[in-house]
Amino acid sequence: KKVIIVGGVAGGASAAARLRRLDEKAEIIMLERDEYISFANCGLPYYIGETIQERNELLVQTPEAMKARFNIDVRINSEVMDVDIENRKVTVNSKTNGTYDESYDYLILSPGAKALKPSIPGIDNNKVFTLRNIPDTDSIKAYVDNNETKAAIVIGGGYVGVEMAENLIQRGLHVTLCEAAPHILAPFDSDMVVMAEKELVENDIELILNDGVKAFNQIGNQIEVVLSSEKRVEADIVILAIGVVPDTTFLKNTELELGPKGHIIVNDKMQTNIEDIYAIGDAIEVVDFITKQKTAIPLAGPANKQGRIAADNICGINSSYKGTQGTAIIKVFDLTAAGTGANERTLQRFNIPYKAVYLHPMSHASYYPGFMPMSLKLIFNDIGKILGAQCIGYEGVDKRIDIIATAIRYDGTVDDLAELELCYAPPFSSAKDPVNMVGFMAQ
Ligand code: FAD
Repeated sequence: KKVIIVGGVAGGASAAARLRRLDEKAEIIMLERDEYISFANCGLPYYIGETIQERNELLVQTPEAMKARFNIDVRINSEVMDVDIENRKVTVNSKTNGTYDESYDYLILSPGAKALKPSIPGIDNNKVFTLRNIPDTDSIKAYVDNNETKAAIVIGGGYVGVEMAENLIQRGLHVTLCEAAPHILAPFDSDMVVMAEKELVENDIELILNDGVKAFNQIGNQIEVVLSSEKRVEADIVILAIGVVPDTTFLKNTELELGPKGHIIVNDKMQTNIEDIYAIGDAIEVVDFITKQKTAIPLAGPANKQGRIAADNICGINSSYKGTQGTAIIKVFDLTAAGTGANERTLQRFNIPYKAVYLHPMSHASYYPGFMPMSLKLIFNDIGKILGAQCIGYEGVDKRIDIIATAIRYDGTVDDLAELELCYAPPFSSAKDPVNMVGFMAQ
């Protein structure tokens, strides 16, 4: 069989590797618009901040290595412009080989999502940057490295915005972070996220909440950001990180079913409305594991898993995707914030009744040195089923959320949390782990 994969990063590369493992003979062609495949998107802010020092570390796989290791025909600088569903072929625009058609038996679409750039006056100013890939990273880093760049404005307090704000502080810049919503990090509830906001302010980030951007003006060598409140902030560079939209414009004129915002609609086999075409990653609509509503959650873990599932189904293995619960984590200077499942806002939006309990435990036994405080919030329903959790602290936050995320996957209840037997010795935890404790509180 001949499989064409569109997009060679998280979802596309996972699908390619899995396909090869399942089928030694399949012809696999990966078409990637940019120069790089399989790079570490999630590491990009840390390279700009110079925590990751070697640019090469970001390049997880090269086209040559994919060929040598998996016998995959990787074609970079090759953009898919159109899909001819009836004749099962794609039109490719290659920087080196011009425009040509390539036929397929199966097509896997993993084109991802691009930075949202609304039509705000002045948005095309060359001091306004977005961050998605290696070329974006190179441009931002070169700007910070080479110019007299002293002040930055980051617009958007999501994961990428907060990570960029921290990394620009790391580079010695004065950073203002503007968020249009009442609080940063939308997956968290306002009562939890205050700790993260405090951490930003204590690390010299000027935080502006409840204020969206209205216009950008060039003023001498600087760029001025005009906010809805009429407040004006000047800086040398703007990072725009207000969310993403699916990179699916090339599919608009095909019969592929797209959602209201352009996401590709798939079933639980990752199959689109066209039998031989599969789609995965940030470009698709998924089912929210908790609310069962349609949503889009652009995260690397789900993209990788969906890639495997698409490959499985193409090779006759009946695996299925059960939804995305949005388990995510972020470092905010010395703090860690992590969450899984639904937050209060989402549950209220869908009229799903819930209860919440809060716990402020120590990361490990308080008689052993080095313990740190954390805040843990558990959300559950009237029969004790866990709907979500959020945790913010300095140590052991990832472990608690990963345990609860696992419990959620298996339809766990607060009784299950109370019962879990977790590892304990004083340097690591308490005999009653915070996860057990929060279960006790909810019982
Ligand atoms: P992508 O990885 O975006 O890959 C899509 C590829 O398809 C792109 O290279 C694009 O050039 C190519 N393409 C698009 N259209 C075409 C076309 N027509 N023809 C050919 N090629 C095409 N997730 C986490 O879980 N944790 C994190 O810490 C995290 N940090 C992030 C930090 C940053 C700065 C960014 C940008 C993202 C981060 N993410 C993180 C999100 C994560 O990177 C994405 O969820 C994941 O990469 C999605 O994989 P994908 O394959 O759907 O899309």
